[in-house]
Amino acid sequence: MAAITLKDINKRYGDGFHAVKDVSLDIADGEFVILVGPSGCGKSTLLRMIVGLEDITSGELRIGDQRVNEKAPRDRNLSMVFQNYALYPHLTVYENIAFPLRLAKTPDKEIDERVRRASDLLELNEHLERKPANLSGGQRQRVAMGRAIVREAQAFLFDEPLSNLDAKLRGQMRTEISRLQKRLGITTVYVTHDQVEAMTLGDRVVVLRRGVIQQVATPRELYENPVNLFVAGFIGSPPMNFISATVTGDSLHTPFGEWKLPSSRTVDLSGHEVVLLGARPEAFEDASVVSDTVREHGVVFDATIDVIEWLGNEQYAYVPYEAPEDIRAQLAELERELDSEALRTQLVVALDASSRIPEGTPASIWLDLRRVHVFDPESGENLT
Ligand code: ATP
Repeated sequence: MAAITLKDINKRYGDGFHAVKDVSLDIADGEFVILVGPSGCGKSTLLRMIVGLEDITSGELRIGDQRVNEKAPRDRNLSMVFQNYALYPHLTVYENIAFPLRLAKTPDKEIDERVRRASDLLELNEHLERKPANLSGGQRQRVAMGRAIVREAQAFLFDEPLSNLDAKLRGQMRTEISRLQKRLGITTVYVTHDQVEAMTLGDRVVVLRRGVIQQVATPRELYENPVNLFVAGFIGSPPMNFISATVTGDSLHTPFGEWKLPSSRTVDLSGHEVVLLGARPEAFEDASVVSDTVREHGVVFDATIDVIEWLGNEQYAYVPYEAPEDIRAQLAELERELDSEALRTQLVVALDASSRIPEGTPASIWLDLRRVHVFDPESGENLT
């Protein structure tokens, strides 16, 4: 096993397209790192450079204490699991898992031991004599992982391994991958565009946008302290709500009233005429279920909820809201880039399951001002 170090890595494709820009990243031995970002942000390119399927235009890649830029993929001793599994249809499960060991001319007895150990771990014992065509999607995925783990590679690299599975199976496989990685303690780099996978699997998450790293942090840190609008909008579902405010002194004039942030959230607003406030759905609540002592940390405003989705343990309430002209363009761009729900036209408010606000009537909504972020609408920077 080994650490993986990327220093100022760049990728320019033959047509001149600059797909990865000055990426530096230290992945510790045994760490599980997720590369996440919208389609085309360069995450697969980065992974393919690590594994050696794509040349590195400039920068240095080290695995353990060796520079590997010029090494062929087979000499990097990494195991890659692809989205389409890349199983051999004419071989049995046993032979698919054994394949890299046969290539390496490993003795039969050792192959048998290692295949059986992997199949025990992945619960594939009953299926060893079957062909891939006769397996379910989840089982095929496990065979692909079996083939990756028999090799005792220095690291695992996963490229969207679950994207062909249905939602339920994806959830199960996510837990299995997480368990397997912890048990083996092997350095893992995992590419996904699914932010649920990103948040649940990784020790750390790398958020990429247009080939540039935006933030590297634990899932909790990303969620609670996104560095910019892009990360804030990308991480979290339903997404963070954005409300524009004009600034006078330390007062924020919003479509829902005049707000002042508590001292724990104060930011230097001088030089800003307009800011974007960000609040996650759970920063709001039905004001009638908030105790007086808690209520004083926020503001109460009236809003009309047009739709409520009741989920059992909580409810999502939708409040129609028209973002003002001056910030609509930024939000529209963010929506496009994130392929996100309507950031310009509604707020999504998570209410306690006990709340009984009816749809279509004005309601009193409380917002916890301690959980509000302030963004510069031009640069996107989180000022809080
Ligand atoms: P997805 O989630 O859609 O797979 P990604 O983040 O993995 O996206 P990459 O496949 O790494 O994105 O591609 C990054 C950018 O590089 C894209 O804009 C893509 O069009 C471009 N690109 C990829 N391969 C080539 C190539 N061979 N030549 C030119 N441009 C390429």
